[in-house]
Amino acid sequence: MAEEIIGNVYDIQKFSVHDGPGIRTTVFLKGCPLRCLWCHSPESQRFESDLAFMEMKCIGLEVCGLCVKACGQGAISAGEKKKSLTEDKEITVPVVDRARCVTCLKCAEACPSGALYDPKKPMTVEEVFTAAAKDKKYYDKSGGGVTVSGGEPMSQFPFTLALAKRCREAGITVALDTTGFAPTERFLEILPYVDLFLYDLKHMDSKSHRNLTGVPNDLILENARVLTKAGGRFQVRFPMIPKLNATPENIRATAEFCVEIQDGIDVVQLLPYHKFGATKYERLGIPYRLTNVEPPSDEFMQETLQLFQGMGLKAMIH
Ligand code: SF4
Ligand code: SF4
Repeated sequence: MAEEIIGNVYDIQKFSVHDGPGIRTTVFLKGCPLRCLWCHSPESQRFESDLAFMEMKCIGLEVCGLCVKACGQGAISAGEKKKSLTEDKEITVPVVDRARCVTCLKCAEACPSGALYDPKKPMTVEEVFTAAAKDKKYYDKSGGGVTVSGGEPMSQFPFTLALAKRCREAGITVALDTTGFAPTERFLEILPYVDLFLYDLKHMDSKSHRNLTGVPNDLILENARVLTKAGGRFQVRFPMIPKLNATPENIRATAEFCVEIQDGIDVVQLLPYHKFGATKYERLGIPYRLTNVEPPSDEFMQETLQLFQGMGLKAMIH
């Protein structure tokens, strides 16, 4: 049964207002074939389990220490003393030696507070649908629906397709937040069940795209063209990273491509780079690579907006 197909979910966000129109439930699937340097959700990247540590949830080695006992690799030891968030005292939090950790997750199973955890949560289509369908009345009132995001939701294609169909049957609209990096025939297969594609354009030069994300852009651009011709609707998203892709040449090339597929575009969203994801890298013990990049200025964003609008595109800063 299609409803029993399992997807690896890492989060379900209710009352989301940034992932398409209206009030939405956003379903985040784990695993992505890209590795964008500015990725703000590192827990979404690997298809496999991860060991994440949310220090603020730890109740302290003095009263617990179950993680240290559970680890057969000797990968967990006493770290720094920190101020407890719940009581007026200092506690010792553990530190994970990532070089020793084999991601067996025994510590996460033992952790009573959820401080150590695996972001990957296998769920059936029906479980995800049931959670999302509870808010149908809000979708109907606000013009919202369900957004399937990631990671890359097309990488878990049977699950994403079945979920989109299930939502469509129930009269819930579907947005697909995608990198565009998946076989064209899969996009054409899911198109009848997708009301809107949230579609990133990260760099117009294929070599630079590969340097910044790990994959070339040819398939992504071709899929955008094919889907536009087939009647797909787009919210194009341009994450603007100073020095990396927010350069005069690439901004103009991105706007020119948007003009080419303009018939399919509802709006172009210019997304200024931010560093909000940096703490999530700490949780996973992964170095954050863009420490030297600062967000673009408001003035620069306004100039870019004017350039897009001057080329006849409906655009906004998001
Ligand atoms: S996941 Fe890593 S730190 Fe946790 S018990 Fe296994 S080896 Fe030890
Ligand atoms: S098991 Fe969890 S709550 Fe207990 S010390 Fe380890 S991280 Fe903290």
